[in-house]
Amino acid sequence: MVRGKVAVVTGSTSGIGLGLARALAAEGCSIMLNGFGDTGEIEALRARLEREFDIRAGYSGADLSDGGAAAGLIAEAAAALGPVDILVNNAGIQHVAPIEEFPPEKWDAVLAINLSSAFHTTRAALPAMRRAGWGHIVNIASAHGLVASPCKSAYVAAKHGLVGLTKVTGLETAGSGITCNAVCPGWVRTPLVEQQIEARAAEQGVPVDRAAADLLGDKQPSGAFVTPEQLGALTVFLCGDAAAQITGAAFSMDGGWTAQ
Ligand code: NAD
Repeated sequence: MVRGKVAVVTGSTSGIGLGLARALAAEGCSIMLNGFGDTGEIEALRARLEREFDIRAGYSGADLSDGGAAAGLIAEAAAALGPVDILVNNAGIQHVAPIEEFPPEKWDAVLAINLSSAFHTTRAALPAMRRAGWGHIVNIASAHGLVASPCKSAYVAAKHGLVGLTKVTGLETAGSGITCNAVCPGWVRTPLVEQQIEARAAEQGVPVDRAAADLLGDKQPSGAFVTPEQLGALTVFLCGDAAAQITGAAFSMDGGWTAQ
């Protein structure tokens, strides 16, 4: 049962993270939102979560490219809502370029936000979870945590690293009432992917819908996008009693991408 638990979802002002926050709120969790965006829109999101699901919701603008700020997010959530029971490391960015042209500062940013932030939040969240003898950590990795694509060196390295961090966290917490698992989505049509679809449409001189279909056709045999709601349902499952013996695992939800 997750009702009444406190959940932090990083990068939850948009896309998948917002879907995960809504799914946990629908089960009765208090939610600490995090991420960037328009202040008024974020406040509207926060207030809507509270109203719609009758839960408490907070917001932190912590910039997860900074390790200290990532750790601080956990303290901020605990001060506002109570000790953190559920941590979903979801924030992520992408940069697409061949290695020889990949700007080193983009490499550093992708690694910091997509991988190191999960180390810092996990490190900060584990003591309270251990005291409670209860906790769940869900790391949103990617199909790119399991297989590679060209031009995504930093992203693929970070997501493979996140799957590795998940295994170590699972081992170090095994038997303590804490679990840590990774979720590996295929294509989800969020702002992060919309940028890649639009770049592809411009490059190939085709309409955006055609570019989206081609993107799926390249990698995702089901031919359909994964949705944030589907990922939310898996995340809720991984935080529930039925999943108590699942830890250190990586779950694909990718329309068959990594089965090939
Ligand atoms: P998105 O761009 O819609 O959302 C990313 C979120 O992270 C936003 O809330 C943004 O504000 C936040 N964020 C970015 N930089 C941040 C920072 N420095 N500090 C704090 N927050 C920051 O992207 P999305 O598609 O919803 O991606 C969410 C996660 O899912 C990412 O880790 C991504 O790698 C992963 N993922 C996405 C897809 C996909 O197809 N969309 C597939 C596999 C994995």
